[in-house]
Amino acid sequence: MTLIDELIAEGPALLDGAWGTELQARGLAAGAVPDFWNLEHADRVEEVARAYVDAGSGIILTNTFRANVVAQENHPDRSRLDQVNRAGVAISKRAAAGRARVFASMGPGGKLLLSGQVDEPTLRAAFEQQAQALATAGADAIVIETMADLDECGFAIEAARATGLPVVACMVYDSGKRKDRTMMGVTPEQAAEAITRAGADVVGANCGNGIEGYVPVCARLAAATDRPIWIKANAGLPELRGSEVIYRTTPDEFVSHLDALVDAGASFVGGCCGTNPAFIAALRAHLDA
Ligand SMILES: [Zn+2]
Repeated sequence: MTLIDELIAEGPALLDGAWGTELQARGLAAGAVPDFWNLEHADRVEEVARAYVDAGSGIILTNTFRANVVAQENHPDRSRLDQVNRAGVAISKRAAAGRARVFASMGPGGKLLLSGQVDEPTLRAAFEQQAQALATAGADAIVIETMADLDECGFAIEAARATGLPVVACMVYDSGKRKDRTMMGVTPEQAAEAITRAGADVVGANCGNGIEGYVPVCARLAAATDRPIWIKANAGLPELRGSEVIYRTTPDEFVSHLDALVDAGASFVGGCCGTNPAFIAALRAHLDA
């Protein structure tokens, strides 16, 4: 049995929640790149990871979402990204201490391919560098998250697959009237087919949408692929309060949509922006009941 099959053999696998807000609660400045804290404040990053394991996550991610050289092209410490990635895996593994699996996070480059802000060879090289560092450090799998562009997602999948690790690939559905397409206009059907063809082991959606909005997206992904589905929804849609982004969904409200999400085909469930260990503990209690 593959690792992926094993993790979902007895029902949905529970993932973690948001990291950025938890790090901010521990002193990370708004606007600072969280990933470099893997070197500067490893203890505080480990606290966040451990809080999710303690809340019941069977799979935790790593604080490496932005640790690629395209996203950090102007960061003064960009030459330390290999260390940042390796430290991110090491921190999550210490926190997991054998109680949870560590799936290493890879996010987008944050530059538009279509308008020429970045080119294909540069993006591919950035993803290859990051995927190799994460694999070398002993990640159990790689999770590609928050992708809006199918080409970019495909480059990341190829780079991740080259490590030999299982690969999860997620896009962010936050656009269109029904919030059922990515910023680049990709539909769940198009994404599921392309991600499956590219050889990812799990097809997912994360961020951008509340859990209620991700129920129909999940059903459409599931109908378009034979791979297991991974969903990490936000705690509702973001709202602005002054300059602050807030999420209003409570853990109880979030959990009230869990059965619908699982019925729609989700095998891996967790939270994205606005969620915290209390959400994961509530999901754990519901799954165990
Ligand atoms: Zn998010």
